[in-house]
Amino acid sequence: MSEGSLEAPVRHPIDWRNPEFFDEAKLDEELRRVFDICHGCRRCFNLCDSFPRLFDLIDESESGELDTVDSKDFKPVVDACTLCDMCFMVKCPYVPPHEFNLDFPHLMLRYRAVEHAKKGSGFAEKQLTDTDRNGKLATGALSGIANWATRRGNAVTRPMMEKIADVHRDAVLPPYTGKTLVARAKANPPVVNESAPAAGKRKAVVYATCYGNYNTPEVGEALLGVLAKNGIAAEVVYPECCGMPQMEQGAVQDVAEKAKRVAAFMEKYVDDGYEVIALVPSCALMLKFEWPLVVPDDDKIRKLSAATRDASEYIVALAKSEGLAEGLKPLDGPVAIHIACHARAQNMGQKASEMMRLIPEIDLTVVERCSGHGGSWGVMKENFEVGMKVGRPVFRQAKANGKAKYVASECPLAGLHIAQGMEASAKDEAEKAALPETSPHPITIFAKAYGL
Ligand code: SF4
Ligand code: SF4
Repeated sequence: MSEGSLEAPVRHPIDWRNPEFFDEAKLDEELRRVFDICHGCRRCFNLCDSFPRLFDLIDESESGELDTVDSKDFKPVVDACTLCDMCFMVKCPYVPPHEFNLDFPHLMLRYRAVEHAKKGSGFAEKQLTDTDRNGKLATGALSGIANWATRRGNAVTRPMMEKIADVHRDAVLPPYTGKTLVARAKANPPVVNESAPAAGKRKAVVYATCYGNYNTPEVGEALLGVLAKNGIAAEVVYPECCGMPQMEQGAVQDVAEKAKRVAAFMEKYVDDGYEVIALVPSCALMLKFEWPLVVPDDDKIRKLSAATRDASEYIVALAKSEGLAEGLKPLDGPVAIHIACHARAQNMGQKASEMMRLIPEIDLTVVERCSGHGGSWGVMKENFEVGMKVGRPVFRQAKANGKAKYVASECPLAGLHIAQGMEASAKDEAEKAALPETSPHPITIFAKAYGL
C-alpha cells in the first residue's frame, strides 16, 4: 500500500496494442496531465533524478507552471527514470483505484515505447541489452578475454566502448563466468538432506535469469546448496532472458514475445506443482507483475506469475511453514544488506532482511533506498554520474559506520554499483582497506552461515 493511500494500488494492463498508445499528441496530453499533478504534489522530490528534473523544468519556466514548458524538454525527465517502480508502489496516493489514475513509471515506459516505435533501439543499447547473445559469446573459454576487455581501467578498450557503445569508462561492468549456472548445477548437484523438515514436501525449479546464469552463478549455487540442505532438490532452467533490458528500452513487443516463450517452457513445471524461484528481483518482478500487464490474456503467463517466488521470499516461506534444517551458525561479523527497488516493488515486505534474521545472533543493518543503478541504465555515459550521485546515501549506510564485514544487495548489479560507490567515497587508503566484503546476494551470506 502506498504512503498516501488507504487502498492497495491496482495496476492496469499496458495498453500497447491500442494504436492510441503510440499517438504522440495523446502521449503529450497524458504527460502534461500527470506532470501537472506531480507539480502540485511533489512527494517524490527525492526518490530519483526524474522528479527533480521535472520540478526544476517547471520552476525555471517563464510562468513557473507547466504551460510554458516545451514538450521536447520532457525527454531528460524520462531518461532519468530507471523504472524502479518506487513512486508507484510506495509514494503515490493517486494510483488506481484513485480517479487520477496515475502510473508514472508506465507513462515513462510509454514515452520510451513511442520513441522505440519511431527509431528502434540505439546501436549501443541494442548491443548492451542482448544479454543472451552476450552471455553465450562471453562465457566459457572466452570469459577471460571478455573480462579483460570490459574491466574498468583497461586503457585500450574502455575509452573505445565509451565512444562506440556509450558505456561510461568508469562504470564497473559485471564479469562473465567460465561455466554457466545451468552447466554447474548439472555437473555438480548438491547432496540433498533427506532428514530436513521440508524433505519431500516441496517442488521447486530455479529460473537462472541471464545474470544468474552468465555472470553470478555463485548466487544460484548458494541457493541450491541452501535448498538441498533443506531437503529440496531443485533443477535449474534457463529458457531465455525475462526481457527487463528490453522493457527499459520501451521494446514492449519483444518483452511480450519473450514472456510467451518462457511461460510456455515453464508450463510443465507449473502444472506439476513446482514453485519457480527467480534469482534476481528484477526478473521476479517481471514474471510476477510486468508480464501479466504486458500480455494480460495469456493463461500460461498468469499461471507462471502466480507460481513465481523471489529467492529470499521462498526461504522465508519455507522457514515459516516447514521450518529450516538445523545448522545455521552465527557469522564472524556484522552484515549490511540493501533492499533493491525491484524487491520492494514486489510488495512482499522486506524478505531479504527477514531471511537474514533467521541467522542466529546476526548484527544486521538494512539499507532501503535506491542505489542509483537501475540495470543497464546506470552504466551508460549520460547516466553513470547521476547514478553515483543518487547512490551516495546508500554507499554511506552500507558501511554501517565502518562496522559491516559483509555487504550484499538483493540486486547483484546494484551490489557492484554499491561496492564501486563505497570505494569511490572512501576518504583514504585506510578506509578503502576496511570496506566490507561484497557478496552478490544475501543468499550467499546465508549459505555461509550454513557452512556451505
Ligand atoms: S519509477 Fe523510479 S526512477 Fe522512475 S520516476 Fe518512479 S521513482 Fe523515479
Ligand atoms: S508520482 Fe504521485 S506521489 Fe509522486 S510526485 Fe507524482 S503525484 Fe506525487
